[in-house]
Amino acid sequence: MMKSNMNIEIIDNLKRNFREVYGRHYEGAYFAPGRVNLIGEHTDYNGGHVFPCALPAGTYGMIAPRGDQQLRFYSLNLPESGVVSVELGDLSPGRTEAWTAYPEGVFWAAQKEGFAIPFGADILFAGDLPGGSGLSSSASIEVLTGLMIQQTYSLEDLTMERIARIGQMGENTYCGMQCGIMDQFASAMGKEGHAIYLDTDTMEYEYVPLDLKERELIITNSKVKHSLVSSAYNDRRRECATALADIQKIPAFAEVKSLCSINEEAFEQYKEQILDPVCRARAEHVVKEEARTEKAVSALRKNDIETFGKLMNESHISLRDRYQVSCPEIDFLTELAWQIPGVLGSRITGGGFGGCTISIVETESAEAFMGRIRGEYEKRFHIRPEFYRAWPWEGAKKLDV
Ligand code: ADP
Ligand code: MG
Repeated sequence: MMKSNMNIEIIDNLKRNFREVYGRHYEGAYFAPGRVNLIGEHTDYNGGHVFPCALPAGTYGMIAPRGDQQLRFYSLNLPESGVVSVELGDLSPGRTEAWTAYPEGVFWAAQKEGFAIPFGADILFAGDLPGGSGLSSSASIEVLTGLMIQQTYSLEDLTMERIARIGQMGENTYCGMQCGIMDQFASAMGKEGHAIYLDTDTMEYEYVPLDLKERELIITNSKVKHSLVSSAYNDRRRECATALADIQKIPAFAEVKSLCSINEEAFEQYKEQILDPVCRARAEHVVKEEARTEKAVSALRKNDIETFGKLMNESHISLRDRYQVSCPEIDFLTELAWQIPGVLGSRITGGGFGGCTISIVETESAEAFMGRIRGEYEKRFHIRPEFYRAWPWEGAKKLDV
């Protein structure tokens, strides 16, 4: 059977609602996926490598240009927010804390980068990702908006890679979330059947086949969201910057650009230079995670999924203990997964403090895996987890509908 992700129900809803909300026809329809990161967590803002793939689920959108300077946004996921209107000239960081900060930020960043947006537009969104769960619905709505801008205003220089950058810039500046480039890059550049080995320092990337054969990727949604996410994320960035500054005080390391450019041996030798133990632990995670990611990708290239899975588990332990971005619910899910036969690896994915885990599971054990996790998690936390059986999907695209 051909794998497809097209959510016909969402597309039909968008068509109908576009007419109802804006009283006219849409001109273009688009999709941008969410992503899951297999390994390389919190390395993307430390000059290191990440290894995400785009997902079959994401955000859909329709757009029609307007004759004036108004932008109008509406999301079928958040009907209670109604239609939000803003003049192109009034876009500015801090203008709003509503969900429209994400698409507004992309329009703002595109203009800031010199792309001409001479007229407004009516835009309608609807997504099939669980929002705020670490699968990057935010990047998917940003990249979707970037692609709509490229197409609607005929901006050929606005390449998919620049769309990723502009999405990140919008999220950093307009939404105050200091995320790295990984999420937007995966959403813009994903390739079916492949994960992306991305060097976030040079932006060089390679598509690595992710052919799991008789195994599959299962995402488990803990359904918890701890409120810490964005403030803790920004704290982690600061702690990494402090650690780097301490290391740079060593003359031989004065020129070192990022934590990920320090190798494990050098780090062991000089880590005491990082005075604050918390910052030292954060840096230790980053340096070792970078090494782990490289090892994991070479294992995958040799089809050694067992090693890949073990490195995923190690990544989780480091995120739990050194980087401290896990939480009891997520630790329960991963630690239980490690005990279930047929599980090759399991870890937290995304920013942390709730959200999802990603596991590689033998297909024949998948039902038993989900059954056991559901039963024990529900018993312990009284929450019903959700599962998504995922496969690597392609990046943002125009839809032929
Ligand atoms: P994640 O990226 O892990 O899903 P974030 O907190 O970074 O979580 O982003 C979620 C936010 O993105 C939502 O709270 C909302 O503001 C915005 N968003 C994403 N998708 C949509 C959508 N389809 N409609 C409206 N807002 C959306
Ligand atoms: Mg996000």
